[in-house]
Amino acid sequence: MKSNLFKNSSNPILDLKTYAEFRKALEQSNCPKCHLCESRTHIVVDRGNPQSKVMIIGEAPGKDEDLKQKPFVGRSGKLLDRLFQEIGFDTNRDSLVVNIVKCRPPENRAPRPDEAQACRPYLNKQIALMRPRWILLLGATALKHMLPEKAKLSMSEVVGKTFKHPQFPEAEFIVLFHPAYLLRDPRKTPLMQGHLQTFKKMWELV
Ligand code: URA
Repeated sequence: MKSNLFKNSSNPILDLKTYAEFRKALEQSNCPKCHLCESRTHIVVDRGNPQSKVMIIGEAPGKDEDLKQKPFVGRSGKLLDRLFQEIGFDTNRDSLVVNIVKCRPPENRAPRPDEAQACRPYLNKQIALMRPRWILLLGATALKHMLPEKAKLSMSEVVGKTFKHPQFPEAEFIVLFHPAYLLRDPRKTPLMQGHLQTFKKMWELV
């Protein structure tokens, strides 16, 4: 599998037809497409429900996620789950939680553009297999990589707003604060709760 993954032209994981096959193959792949493979413990593909209508995209696995092979299982994840529970939304039942890159960057730095680009076919494949109705972008890194034309704007200009992207015509993107930001500045939590109330109304309508 490793030698095949090095060739951009041939990556059998991207040809798989079901989400379950894709997840298993990627988790077991030992993907070498960027340097993050040198320091990771696990490839962190997702947690949650690929049959749901909502994809939540964060930045990158941290230490807890790298060890447990699940995204958002540390302090940020606990806050994320609690805020979504307040609107009656269970992140494991009602969404699929993923990251821009599947392997932990050293010292929890933000993923570099080359790393995000190398990992992007996997995220695109997840979106193609899942076909989410909403894609919730947590924080500036997810925004920058998923909606690059909005990346010049500050988070305060886009947070809570809804966007479309021609590459994913079936989905509506909603920008939200990253929970790690709320841990650093809890005064912003009521704003996030307001954004989630707005999202709840859209989500309940469908
Ligand atoms: N922060 C993220 O962006 N993703 C995780 O999986 C954990 C923390």
